[in-house]
Amino acid sequence: MADSPSTETVVLRRGKDDVTRRLKADICVVGAGIAGVSAALQAAKLGRRVILVDSQPALGGQAVNSIIATFCGLFSNGTHGYQFTYGIADDLLAFLERHEQAIYYRHGPRTTVVYYDEVTLGRWVEQSILAAGITPVLGAMLQSTQVEGGRIVSTDFMTRYGRVTIEADGYIDASGDAALLWQAGFACREPARQRVFGTQMVVLENIDESAQPTREEIGARMKERAESYGLLRREGLGFTIPGRGIAAMNMTHVETPLDPVEASAKALEGKEQAARAVEFLKAEFPACFGGARVRSFGLPGIRQTRWIVGRHHLTVEEIRQGKKFDDAIGRTAWPIELHDHGDGHHWIVFDEDHVHYIPLGSLVPQECENVVAAGRCIDADSAALSSVRVMGPCIAMGMAAAHALDLAGSGSVHQIDMADMRARVVDNVERQHYRWDEKELASKVTAA
Ligand SMILES: Cc1cc2nc3c(=O)[nH]c(=O)nc-3n(C[C@H](O)[C@H](O)[C@H](O)COP(=O)(O)OP(=O)(O)OC[C@H]3O[C@@H](n4cnc5c(N)ncnc54)[C@H](O)[C@@H]3O)c2cc1C
Repeated sequence: MADSPSTETVVLRRGKDDVTRRLKADICVVGAGIAGVSAALQAAKLGRRVILVDSQPALGGQAVNSIIATFCGLFSNGTHGYQFTYGIADDLLAFLERHEQAIYYRHGPRTTVVYYDEVTLGRWVEQSILAAGITPVLGAMLQSTQVEGGRIVSTDFMTRYGRVTIEADGYIDASGDAALLWQAGFACREPARQRVFGTQMVVLENIDESAQPTREEIGARMKERAESYGLLRREGLGFTIPGRGIAAMNMTHVETPLDPVEASAKALEGKEQAARAVEFLKAEFPACFGGARVRSFGLPGIRQTRWIVGRHHLTVEEIRQGKKFDDAIGRTAWPIELHDHGDGHHWIVFDEDHVHYIPLGSLVPQECENVVAAGRCIDADSAALSSVRVMGPCIAMGMAAAHALDLAGSGSVHQIDMADMRARVVDNVERQHYRWDEKELASKVTAA
């Protein structure tokens, strides 16, 4: 017979010192999106004690929780694109391939992307972080920082279970909003005029994949009819994820202000816009979307808000020229994709042999000795950032940030040995590995 349930209780009162936990690490990564996860995994591979913190109660940032749905910028342009980023990216692609959730798709003659399932990606992140011995601290919002002599020496986070204080030799700001450097009082940038729009992503189920309209058809109909559905954006996509009977929809443009009250209001407005976009698809393309239901809304998709003042401000001109920096740490050929007006976005595609590079100088804050940024808050003008913030280069940036802090140890990231640094990131800057040979290409990469 089962024991009787325990009914004893203890009565407690909170003590004066409300610090729940004090933790120490070599490297503390703030932000567990694709850039932060990549940084944490790389730092752990280098033998560092790593803590990975995120304000969400889940890992994966936008890649998982905003349902971005495709990895872009991982392959060079052209029908036979080679891979740009290796290491962590190889681990990730191998996992998705093992679970049959890496769908390689080439759009037109140029850009090859990887469709993924966000649940599988989430599992890769969770399993990899645990296997690497990284300490995750989730649901933890950055609250304050202590700065001494240009170094962040400790950080405080508030969680639902109390405060966590983390001391580390080095920090990676992978928060997307430069939250760490901003909080610490270092200079940051915001757009002088036009802000960059975000998007509320939606996953639709019960669609008929065989009746999928082309991108051009959806685009043309949006131009013509979007206004009558109350849609701000006049272009956008409802694209099926091949073989899964679902579609991802990115037909909204939503402001993403840094004011907390406005940000909350805009996030809800984004869902209203998305619901109207679903009505548009159902009514205008009933063969494919007539029976569509919303399966999930992603968390608000935020492209660009606030970012660091680095040693180097990457410009769109440098990107157009494909300038190869001495301190290059990653590369891509993804188009300029600047969502700076409500009804559309700039989309400037590069030639087949074009490559552009990201310098370490854009990851290293001018005024701070022991922080490296990675992901969508590095230093670049808005047009340049719109290309290099896609997830392929975000992985390369995370890896580079970990290497830079590993080389710096308890010293300054401004004084690392650049020959060592170059040797560590050489694959992500120089290697040209073709993932598929000539025979495999047709069966492995679907051409749209
Ligand atoms: C709608 C949309 C569609 C896109 N489409 C594509 C695409 O198809 N393919 C592609 O490759 N890229 C795409 N991008 C770009 C790409 O998804 C992002 O730039 C990339 O995911 C950014 O990764 P990140 O790690 O820098 O930041 P994020 O994923 O934003 O991660 C930052 C993390 O930091 C945490 N954080 C923030 N502030 C704090 C704080 N104060 N305290 C603690 N934690 C904090 C957040 O919770 C978050 O988890 C898209 C972006 C958007 C918005």
